[in-house]
Amino acid sequence: MQVKLHSHTPDPEAFMAYVARVSNPANQSNPDHARLLSYCIRRRHWSVFEHASMTVEILTTLDIATQILRHRSFCFQQLSRRYAGEEQSPVQWVMPQLRAPHPKDRQASLDTLPHDVVEHWQGKIQDHLQAAHDLYRQLLAAGVAKECARAVLPQATTTTLYMSGNCRSWIHYIALRSQPGTQAEHRSVALEVQGIFAQVFPVCAGALDALDWAT
Ligand SMILES: Cc1cc2nc3c(=O)[nH]c(=O)nc-3n(C[C@H](O)[C@H](O)[C@H](O)COP(=O)(O)OP(=O)(O)OC[C@H]3O[C@@H](n4cnc5c(N)ncnc54)[C@H](O)[C@@H]3O)c2cc1C
Repeated sequence: MQVKLHSHTPDPEAFMAYVARVSNPANQSNPDHARLLSYCIRRRHWSVFEHASMTVEILTTLDIATQILRHRSFCFQQLSRRYAGEEQSPVQWVMPQLRAPHPKDRQASLDTLPHDVVEHWQGKIQDHLQAAHDLYRQLLAAGVAKECARAVLPQATTTTLYMSGNCRSWIHYIALRSQPGTQAEHRSVALEVQGIFAQVFPVCAGALDALDWAT
């Protein structure tokens, strides 16, 4: 899993403060935006945060991409395996971490499986992933279209997404997906996004840290 910053609104926090001061034109270019943005976050004055945006590139697996794509307020572009074959983008996968189900929480799992159990089943998974990949290549070699052959690729196959959204959406995405209720693999994506968010929106990140991201 890997998250990279692609681009963002120039001087994003200064711009959000500028639009927030629409009712006070004489003070609109006031460079002190930290107090104003922190105040807006504390008061849940969220519309202010819709005026600056950020785009990230995410490399993840198909199962986690499905969860990320549910965040409908974002704009997405995803690698298409109807179009891209091995020459354009090699088919790769990530070995799943194997965890035990949480005894009470059906949305959680625990890293408590014995080492030998993990090793045994990861060996089986490796064979399965290799066999699926071999079958995919054989289908393409036999003249089957990419859009049909891709159906045999497992959920552990990697994919690339561009995810663009405004600061408000990023705040709520990070607040939700960095919590223990989110699957560990998706949480690690959200935590990487949080680090990038803190570089692009440092005042907002500081104000949200003070609230423990309770939005
Ligand atoms: C633990 C967990 C389990 C899930 N299980 C399922 C499942 O079984 N089946 C299924 O179909 N889906 C499931 N989902 C997905 C979930 O239902 C949503 O589709 C997903 O989290 C996307 O959220 P969203 O629609 O709010 O989109 P977003 O794009 O994140 O948000 C939409 C809009 O709402 C705003 N917003 C978000 N949060 C707030 C807030 N607190 N206050 C004000 N505005 C806000 C955003 O800024 C944005 O403008 C699960 C999610 C989680 C976290």
